Amino acid sequence: VQFLRDLPKAELHAHLNGSIPLDVLQEMARDYLSANGASGSTVSEAVKMGVQNLTQGVQLNEIHEFFGLFPAIYALTSSPERVAKAARAVLHLFLDDPNPQCAYLEMRTTPRATESMDRRGYLLAVLEEVEKYPADKAALIVSTDRRMDETIVEECINLAITLKEEGRRVVGIDLCGDPRAGELQRFVKHFQNAKASGLGVTVHIAETVDNPTSETDNLLRAFAPSRLGHATFLDEEAMKIVFEKDIAVELCLTSNLLCKTVKSLEDHHIRFYLKQDHPIAICTDDQLVFRTNLLAEYALLLAKPPYGLGLTMDEVRKIAEMSMARRFS
Ligand code: 5GP
Repeated sequence: VQFLRDLPKAELHAHLNGSIPLDVLQEMARDYLSANGASGSTVSEAVKMGVQNLTQGVQLNEIHEFFGLFPAIYALTSSPERVAKAARAVLHLFLDDPNPQCAYLEMRTTPRATESMDRRGYLLAVLEEVEKYPADKAALIVSTDRRMDETIVEECINLAITLKEEGRRVVGIDLCGDPRAGELQRFVKHFQNAKASGLGVTVHIAETVDNPTSETDNLLRAFAPSRLGHATFLDEEAMKIVFEKDIAVELCLTSNLLCKTVKSLEDHHIRFYLKQDHPIAICTDDQLVFRTNLLAEYALLLAKPPYGLGLTMDEVRKIAEMSMARRFS
């Protein structure tokens, strides 16, 4: 464990609202319910149920069920103060003593407009927290969601560009959300603008068997990402592009197993990338939901099969170095 703790590593794929520590979420739920009436309203009931589910540990039958967990969490992070509290807790979880999980965190989040903030206000609330840390410790990626209208994606990306120009700590943009949703061609020009402005581009890609080859191809060619999230079901043609363009892959082992997109560690696509000596970063995705942390994910690399991949300490050290090398900042 000491070896894994001391290893300088970067967390490059962690979603803010999916990474809130459970005790902080429970406290936020108590505050919310006492302010909004413990029972009666449909939203309060949904929040109670949602937090209870997360407390008990989530069992997912398939990846699509995962996205249903977020409305309850979002009800709790819908003001600048509460989203700041969540961001503060996630940054603390990853970076602070006594048990820091990594040396550097690129936290990502999807800006939301609510009654009490617009999307810029959301991002500013998060950035204030990120920027309390030195630039070599924490930065922000602005996520867009496949379920968004094009105008909202454009707004989010323009905000990322403007905030970067204003000297704020935004280093990249992401495409996430339910892999079943959205026709992605309409987002291309906005992603290209972001890239032209010097932002890093990462996209969730080929997360399920159902993601069509044409979509994967479009994401790789037109969106021109320098990193990929998951990349579970890439075919040979797509792999060729990934190798040629040297696109790093953010891998989330526990997330894939619990969302049942990968059957076992034995079958995990990490083995393929390791064999090819291709750049990867080990990441947690959503540690609130998946009950993991970055040390546990790295421990899976070291543990002997069938519990882990049985890699040597030198191999694990090299993987950690790759994550540091692929930061957007
Ligand atoms: P947020 O962006 O609100 O801070 O974090 C939660 C959001 O991230 C979810 O609503 C979902 O859109 C996205 N997300 C979290 N984990 C995953 C994942 O494994 N796959 C995809 N496609 N999206 C995810």
